[in-house]
This record gives sequence, structure tokens and C-alpha cells, in this order.
Amino acid sequence: MSAKPQTLLGAVRYFSDPDACQDFMVSLRWPDGTVRCPTCDRDDVRYIATRRLWECKDRHAKRQFSVKVGTIFEDSPIALDKWLATIWMIANAKNGVSSYEIHRSIGVTQKTAWFMLHRIRLAMQSESFDKLSGEVEVDETFVGGRMRFIHKHRIERLRKKSFNPNVNKTAVMGLLERHGPDGHSHVRTAVVKTTRRTALEPLVRKHVVEGSEVFTDALPSYSDLSDRYVHEFIDHSESYVRGKVHTNGLENFWSLLKRAIKGTYVSVEPVHLFRYLDEEVFRFNARKTVDTDRFERVTGAVVGKRLTYHQLIGANTTPA
Ligand SMILES: [Zn+2]
Repeated sequence: MSAKPQTLLGAVRYFSDPDACQDFMVSLRWPDGTVRCPTCDRDDVRYIATRRLWECKDRHAKRQFSVKVGTIFEDSPIALDKWLATIWMIANAKNGVSSYEIHRSIGVTQKTAWFMLHRIRLAMQSESFDKLSGEVEVDETFVGGRMRFIHKHRIERLRKKSFNPNVNKTAVMGLLERHGPDGHSHVRTAVVKTTRRTALEPLVRKHVVEGSEVFTDALPSYSDLSDRYVHEFIDHSESYVRGKVHTNGLENFWSLLKRAIKGTYVSVEPVHLFRYLDEEVFRFNARKTVDTDRFERVTGAVVGKRLTYHQLIGANTTPA
């Protein structure tokens, strides 16, 4: 096998060989090299080289299976070379990649590209079991979701009536641990219903180790944190930094997020917003590494995850 690809062009060349795709996927799917039947776990399966399928010797349903089974690629008619090139692009594109761009560069329909990207975002989703500790910034923002079927003049009227400029936007909370496990800051996000105390405070308690230093803005929702945390806030009407008391790490993350959403994705339905957050959080937390590594982090997480089209459009939306 030739050396690992280092660039998009290298990845496209490398995975243009179907055997290279197959070997790569086997190494992800069955790391010990022994291919097992996903239904009954038998390991004496027969390989049908001409079809790149295995067949189990037991006579049960789904006795023939491909390397895509049990991954985000399951049931997808799209060839692995297209999938892997798309993963390379989305893992490494600073501002994200739209489904229109994937449609044009990979040669699939825009609707297919939209679905592929959402499946890949599932692999980018990080499972965070450890709590954040040390110095932690907490902040909230509003991300512009469009309001479907509502004319922009009506949104303006709603804004004036409720005195709320964020009336058609979705609230997002962020937590940033400075000096994370690899020495760099790490972010977590959550879509929240409101920015009231009832929504924000439990998330801080859930994600941050007691005794940590917590830095926020002057929002009253955070005012009860000093029982278990060293809580300090900065009033943005007065200044933005007081020594280490600031939320500039998260401000930086919000600006990257909004650049991707406004510049690349243009309109994001609120129900799908968390998927775009997963994507942005992935790239932010892996920002100090190289393209090959980001690619491997995503491909390393494709196993054991599935997202069907019905699950996606069950959210009652149109691909954009
Ligand atoms: Zn079997």
C-alpha cells in the first residue's frame, strides 16, 4: 500500500483504486483484519471479489454484506471514493463546504450531497464524557435561522413588537476550556430554547467540574454559579477584558461559526443547526493538527453510526 494521502488531490488519487478503498474500510470496520458477519458474527465468511461483498455461510437474512454495513455509508449507492473525498473536503475546509459545492466537484446531485454532508457531520459529532475544568469560558449567541413561510417584513414587525432583535434566531450556548487536553482550547456547544437561567445554568453544572474558574458576560442567568464555581463576569457595556476574565475564545469561535453559516450554508433550518455546530466544533477542536489527521479522525468515527434520510427529513424540511 502506498503512503497515506496528505492532500485532497492525494486522497482523490489514492481512493480512485476501489481495492484501496476496500482495504481502508476493512481496517476501520474490522481493525484486527478478520471480517465478521455483522448479523451472526461468524468469521469464516466467503469473499466474492468480483462484487466486493462477503457472504455468510449461515442462511439468515442479509447474509451478503459490504464494507459499508454498520457505518454512516450503509445503504448508500454512492461509491466510497466519492464519500472519502467528500470527508476530506468537509473535514478540512475552514468555512465549511456547501452541498452545491460537493454536487459540482464530486458529481452527485445537490440533494444527495446534502444528505452525505449530514451523515458525515454525524461522524464529526464528538461524544464528551469528561467534564471541562480549569479556566472555562461560557457564553451564548444567536444564530440566524430563517423563519420559513414568513415574509421579511413580518419578521421586522415581530422584532419591533417584541423589542427582540433575535426573534427569528436560534440561541446557542458555548463552553470553552482553555488549555485543553492537547494544550489548546476546546469548545462544546448546545442549542438552547432560551438564554434564561433555567436553560443555561444546568448545562454549566453538567459540563464543568466543580471548583473550576468560570468566565461569563454579565447575563443574570449565570449569577448563581458562585456556589460551586469561581465565577467571574465581564460586563461588555464597560469592557471586554479584565486580565483573564473574558470570553474572547468563544467570541472567536462564534465568528468562525457565523462565517461558515452565513458565507457557505446561507440558510440553516433551526432543527438542523446542531449538525452545523458539530461540524464547526470538530474543526475548531482539531484546528492545530494537519489535514491527514482531521480526515482520519472523521473516518475513524464512521463505524457504528447511522442516519437515514427519513430521520433527517422527519424534521420536516427541504434540503438546502
Ligand atoms: Zn452470519
